[in-house]
Amino acid sequence: MSAPRLLEVSGLTKSFPVKTGLLQRTKGQVHAVTDVSFGLERGRTIGIVGESGSGKSTLAKCIVRLYPPTAGRISFRGEDIAFMTERRLRADVRARVQMIFQDPYSSLNPRHTLLSIVDEPLRVHHRLSAVERGYRVDTVLERVGLDPAFRRRRPHEFSGGQRQRIAIARALVLNPDLLVADEPVSALDVSIQAQIVTLMQDLQEELGLAYIFISHDLSVVRAIADTVIVLYLGRIMEVAPADRLFACFAHPYTEALLSAVPVVRTDDTKGPPRIILSGDQPDATDPPAGCVFHTRCPYARDRCRNEVPAVRSLPDQDEGHRLACHFPLTGQS
Ligand code: SF4
Repeated sequence: MSAPRLLEVSGLTKSFPVKTGLLQRTKGQVHAVTDVSFGLERGRTIGIVGESGSGKSTLAKCIVRLYPPTAGRISFRGEDIAFMTERRLRADVRARVQMIFQDPYSSLNPRHTLLSIVDEPLRVHHRLSAVERGYRVDTVLERVGLDPAFRRRRPHEFSGGQRQRIAIARALVLNPDLLVADEPVSALDVSIQAQIVTLMQDLQEELGLAYIFISHDLSVVRAIADTVIVLYLGRIMEVAPADRLFACFAHPYTEALLSAVPVVRTDDTKGPPRIILSGDQPDATDPPAGCVFHTRCPYARDRCRNEVPAVRSLPDQDEGHRLACHFPLTGQS
């Protein structure tokens, strides 16, 4: 029997109740993530893209079980963790799945030293001596490009890029299998972004880590992801190997996202025209019937307003390329 995938997400759904009034009665639900399914192998990267409000961060927080899902399955190393108790999560899962955030400054305790920040997960999850922990911390700091001599410094004494390296060190110190990175470079200058992405790629090659890399920036995702998932209003619109998605996208929403990515050309030709979507993303408490994208889709027809498109493979295409659209584009970039 073949080994299970590192991560297999199926039918993942997360809704939040909307409460109102003094009695906090539930008056509706925010449908943040609806019926999302995908798999991730060891040593590979899935990129998740979409506008803000597309459900990217909620999906990430469900996978690391910061949020309990409303429905669905999250199989990690062959075991369903979707509804696992906190006690079992701490014993079997927390150390193996780590998360890093967009703003490392707010996720690092400003009163703690570098040593204390990176050492903390070891104190919580392992019974090691102070000497063993110190050795492990120094090894990880060096691995992410930080000088262990700085271990008594506090977060405000580091630059933004160094702070993100601290966050990565803290995640790595437990030897995780999966790192979920939520907009990890969005707050950094472009040159620093490239350094952090390169560091993550090196760590992946060396340690066999799997990544879920969330970003609204498609050029960054293109640089790091093997597979890309495009989310809109909490639903999968398109999923494909990264090279294929950027060359042969078939969903109108992907087309609009890609048209906004600046293209640097060495000749005088112009890139594809920018597609400006009309209106705002619909309210997630009352998503549109049929295809949720139909209120903004330039290609919408009657069928789109009435019938939800299933996520399916294109005829004659690799099963790795799936999308939810009744009328896929044949256009390419
Ligand atoms: Fe546009 Fe219709 Fe496809 Fe939805 S199903 S993306 S509305 S063409």
